[in-house]
Amino acid sequence: SSPDTDTICRFFFADMDEGSRRQLNLDTALRRALERNEFILHYQPQLDLSTGRIIGAEALLRWQSRDYGLVSPLNFIPLLEENGMINTIGEWVLQEACRLNRKWQDEGLPPLRMAVNLSARQFHGGDIPNIVKRTLEKTGLEPQWLELELTESIVLMDADKVIRTMHEISAEGIGFALDDFGTGYSSLSYLQRLPVARIKIDKSFVANLTSNPSDAAIVRAVVGMAHSLGLKVIAEGVETEGQLGFLRGINCEEIQGYLFSRPLPADDFTLLLREGRSI
Ligand code: C2E
Ligand code: CA
Ligand code: CA
Ligand code: CA
Repeated sequence: SSPDTDTICRFFFADMDEGSRRQLNLDTALRRALERNEFILHYQPQLDLSTGRIIGAEALLRWQSRDYGLVSPLNFIPLLEENGMINTIGEWVLQEACRLNRKWQDEGLPPLRMAVNLSARQFHGGDIPNIVKRTLEKTGLEPQWLELELTESIVLMDADKVIRTMHEISAEGIGFALDDFGTGYSSLSYLQRLPVARIKIDKSFVANLTSNPSDAAIVRAVVGMAHSLGLKVIAEGVETEGQLGFLRGINCEEIQGYLFSRPLPADDFTLLLREGRSI
């Protein structure tokens, strides 16, 4: 499970054209992976800058493949979206993340928000509000401890339908965060139509925060705009003290990134919670 395997796989899959993909029959490999329980979740802490404490976790999918090693989601999620398997696996992700979050609460750990990523395709079937509702009932997790992450491109793709569905889910008490903010065709007007509590600043803007004045200006503007609309902000991809300092200075509420922790297997995350480590 070294980052190297991740890198190797990234090259491995990225270089393949459509034909060779079919040849290797990744479809079959992914289906077999599901049967073999090779999909796992890692969890990355989200920190509240006012207390320095872990306030949430983002569930991130990995494929622990017998044949390819640890495969990055960037390589297989597009394939799962293409062949529709993202619906099955997305439902598993939701359930597993909610189950673990409930388990942490049952162990008496301070309650956390669990963030789960959703794909565009999960909005197409139209059953996502029921799936989410059923998952909460089944796992016994209260809705305020689940947050769904959705990119602005998903919203813009089919705005009316997606926004309607978001409101339906939001009515159950589940929150939304707008992921990868700043990378799409952000228009401020549509933000007001969305039941989102939080904006997630994309890591591409955070990366050069201290070296690129225009990225710094964008991040400052996004935070100011979000606050004026009553939204909270979380910055992802925070790797350095310099970035952290900048974000503190502009009153960004939360951060997530390698500076505090990489995404961790459930057991390691549990240890981190028990230690009560803070930033
Ligand atoms: P994302 O939702 O934008 O997730 C953030 C990505 O940034 C994660 O990559 C995370 O490991 C990485 N990251 C976190 N901190 C740092 C940092 O300090 N520096 C850098 N350079 N990167 C950092 P990961 O885990 O490879 O996931 C990639 C993407 O795959 C995610 O991007 C998300 O779009 C998608 N994904 C992951 N899990 C799921 C899932 O369960 N369902 C769906 N639909 N998509 C998922
Ligand atoms: Ca995300
Ligand atoms: Ca993101
Ligand atoms: Ca992303």
